[in-house]
Amino acid sequence: MGLMSDGQGAGGANRGMPHGFGYGLRLLALVAFVALTNEGFGQRITLLLDQGRWVTLVGFIGIWGLSLVALLVAALQGKTWLRVFWAGVIALTTAAGFSYHHASGSEFGIFDALSLWNARHEATRAAAFYREDLYWFGLVGICGFIALVSPPVVTAERARRWLTRLAWLPALPIAAIAAIIVVKEGGGSEVLPTQFAPLSVGTVVVTRVMLDPIPKRSAVTWNWRGPFAPAAPPAETLAPGSLVAHVDQVRHIVILIDESIRADYIDWTPGNPFTPELARLKSRIVNFGPASSGGNCSHYSNAIFRFGAAREGLGRKVLTSPTIWQYSKKANFRTVFIDAQAAFNRNPGKMQNFMTAEEARDIDTFDALDEKTPPPALDDVLLDMVIEELKSDKPALIYANKNGAHFPYDGGYPESARVFRPTMSEGVKDQALTRINSYRNVVKWSVDRFFKRLFDEADLKDTVIIYTSDHGQVFNPDRLTHCTVEDPDPREGLVPLFVYTDNDEFRNRLAGAAAASRGHASHFSIVPTVLELLGYDAHDIRTIYDESLFEKNTRTAEFTSGDIFGLFSPKVRRHPIDLTRDYLEPAAVDM
Ligand SMILES: [Zn+2]
Repeated sequence: MGLMSDGQGAGGANRGMPHGFGYGLRLLALVAFVALTNEGFGQRITLLLDQGRWVTLVGFIGIWGLSLVALLVAALQGKTWLRVFWAGVIALTTAAGFSYHHASGSEFGIFDALSLWNARHEATRAAAFYREDLYWFGLVGICGFIALVSPPVVTAERARRWLTRLAWLPALPIAAIAAIIVVKEGGGSEVLPTQFAPLSVGTVVVTRVMLDPIPKRSAVTWNWRGPFAPAAPPAETLAPGSLVAHVDQVRHIVILIDESIRADYIDWTPGNPFTPELARLKSRIVNFGPASSGGNCSHYSNAIFRFGAAREGLGRKVLTSPTIWQYSKKANFRTVFIDAQAAFNRNPGKMQNFMTAEEARDIDTFDALDEKTPPPALDDVLLDMVIEELKSDKPALIYANKNGAHFPYDGGYPESARVFRPTMSEGVKDQALTRINSYRNVVKWSVDRFFKRLFDEADLKDTVIIYTSDHGQVFNPDRLTHCTVEDPDPREGLVPLFVYTDNDEFRNRLAGAAAASRGHASHFSIVPTVLELLGYDAHDIRTIYDESLFEKNTRTAEFTSGDIFGLFSPKVRRHPIDLTRDYLEPAAVDM
């Protein structure tokens, strides 16, 4: 404020009112820029007062004061390039923080940044889905930039000198907020100015990820018992390689991970219009669902499977335990990975969901679909590959990531399959109903039709297929569809889970366990099941894992959100979920 009147006093001497008016207008624009892009300041003060957190309160007000001064220093800089530089940085940061808040209903925090960083290959598709928020991004960015660079600037000599000395002051709130985040293990950036805080959050995350690369994994230490079969002969009598000779053993294990498929959007009622084929196939599968997912984000859920994470073993251990590929190789299974989402990587063929080159070394066949495949055909191409693999006599573990209901939903099915309307792309307004219509179309296309093809065309002899989705989905336009870190909707963790096997004995065991575990099915049962199928000893498996799908499970169903690797804190966010509740949206019930 002092700087401004200083400038007004000197520069405005012969220009008079218009200059003062210009300052007033700019100040007004800046106040509006800050006021409209920040939320919850008053509530935060009240909360800190109520809880008597005086130190935090002083720090909070201090950071805000520092930020406002820094903002004025940036906006009044006499040097054009400096003003443009800071205006660019601050406008971009504000636009990012504001549009994230608008899209998600929650503030951009450290684990949101971590999630975004890990899902950066999906930026294009996310942008298509959150298009409306992208407009906000543009609007806030442009308005902010204009408010920050427009004249008048300070012309008085003394003030100019001071502003030049303070040119880098705007870096101070960014550094201060980053320091708070580090000290508070990822927290502490709540309700701090959107003009700076999101940049601090991003800086901390990127630095952290760069400084703390994924450590080396250990080898499989368990003894391999021998091929898993209904009546497995003692391991001593079997030499590795005798697998093919044994008639009853599991030859192919298929882990089929769908994308964003919510359990209650698979309708098992005969003759229903949404997923009629699956309803017809119900007698051929053992249904464990609805189940709770491991994480509520693609990369965390997939990491839990591939890294063989146990429910009680989350944290740093997930980064050092053997992968399912390592377990498969030791059990003489070929390893096959099919990724139907790779086409959307900015850099095609790039590994996603925390996959590293080291992990990929244990994958014998790595099939990543490229951008030549149009999105509605992605799951069909994936299925063709699975069908081809199943023809082989050699034991194989096939891990396939479907494209499923990846957003934008309307991109995932052809025009001719637009059954439920109006869809998101036809709707005038983005609302739950249009989202649900679009979603139902894509589920019918890429899940229901998919399974009809699978059962019609594949040779399923000596095969076990475990099907689930990486996470569920939320259709409230004011929330993220999934990946919410704090206080996620239970629908984000609500996934289908079913198993197919042609082996009667397995089937009976699975069916018994499914009936006894109703309401407790979980992603965390899948890895121990696969390890058992690979032929590892159940006693070894139980030293680390929960019940497999062959066993009765009565644990509280829960899913996690945010970081599962303990990058900032060993605490894992766990969310119990009542799987017996009806979660279907009113808009979906009325259809
Ligand atoms: Zn996903």
